[in-house]
Amino acid sequence: MAKRDYYEVLGVARGASADEIKKAYRKKAKELHPDRNKDDPEAETQFKEVNEAYDALKDPERKAAYDRFGHAAFEGGMGGGAGARPGGFGPGQGDFASAFSDVFDDLFGDFMGGRGGAGARQRAARGADLRYNLRVTLEEAYTGLQKTITVRGSVACPSCEGTGAEGGAEPVSCPTCSGMGKVRAQQGFFTVERTCPTCGGLGQIIKNPCTACAGSGRVERERALSVNIPAGVETGTRIRLAGEGDAGMRGGPPGDLYIFIEVSPHHIFERDGTELHCRVPVSMPTAALGGDIEVPTIDGGRSRVKIPAGSQSGRQMRLRGKGMPALRGGGHGDMFIELAVETPVNLTSRQKELLREFEALSEDNNPESKSFFSSVKSFWDNMKG
Ligand SMILES: [Zn+2]
Ligand SMILES: [Zn+2]
Repeated sequence: MAKRDYYEVLGVARGASADEIKKAYRKKAKELHPDRNKDDPEAETQFKEVNEAYDALKDPERKAAYDRFGHAAFEGGMGGGAGARPGGFGPGQGDFASAFSDVFDDLFGDFMGGRGGAGARQRAARGADLRYNLRVTLEEAYTGLQKTITVRGSVACPSCEGTGAEGGAEPVSCPTCSGMGKVRAQQGFFTVERTCPTCGGLGQIIKNPCTACAGSGRVERERALSVNIPAGVETGTRIRLAGEGDAGMRGGPPGDLYIFIEVSPHHIFERDGTELHCRVPVSMPTAALGGDIEVPTIDGGRSRVKIPAGSQSGRQMRLRGKGMPALRGGGHGDMFIELAVETPVNLTSRQKELLREFEALSEDNNPESKSFFSSVKSFWDNMKG
């Protein structure tokens, strides 16, 4: 059996005032009350029907939802169906979510002039901003890259072209408020303006909500987006793609998509803004005698570096322009290498012999070194004695 229309159940016209609805309910409820209709299952059924109808229509929010979507407004599928998601706005749900602000309308709006015309279009809301975390390598941050990402978010419903109405039919002007979004009522001495309960202030109603999006005008989709990541990005860089966030509600503009960059740590280079730092091992003979070495650079190439004779471990050398590019133009930073002199290991007997000879010569040639060694020796001698 098809569910009867709530207005029909109460015997009032669509667009009846809250007072008229209340009066009609009281009258019906008295007639059908179980105390008066003992053993009359027909009356009992009708009594339940009347109560259910009044429950729905006495509350302006629920009434607005019913007026727009009929019984579907209170069925399980509402809002939880296609397209809706936690935090999003399903049809009707938007009305319930705004219940709190409407309470304020009732309490204060009448005395403070309400929100006037501004309220009439307030539900044409901008879509939410979306965040996407993207991890790139230091090499990618150096060159910049074109990347295809998959983003999940709501888009305008293709079935109704975002209108929320079946077949893309245009919403029609609300009959209760003649499209004004608000209604006037006499209250004692005052004439007060209220948000129209039928259309919830939109001034328009949708006769047949779209089944694909349950009237919200939006559906959840995965979209592939090609994103241009510029050279020089760092961890914490945000890239804004205007209009690529969630679709707007009821003709509202879409939100933006923010791409949050994280640059992975590199196995050789440490980055400090546009500077790159790395440690380069140098053999002991090269450090002592001087010579050329090759060091890797972030662009994948190699650079020749001249090591001056007598270089110590920890010596810093600068390679101009071999660092990271600046994000907003302005060339490249520098690369710094820190020399790490390697002590030779796994020596052959010949190498050992040469080193001993080298050491002996060093002590002879370097009085400072000689005096250091002799002072260490005398220290140990004293400790033993
Ligand atoms: Zn209206
Ligand atoms: Zn739709």
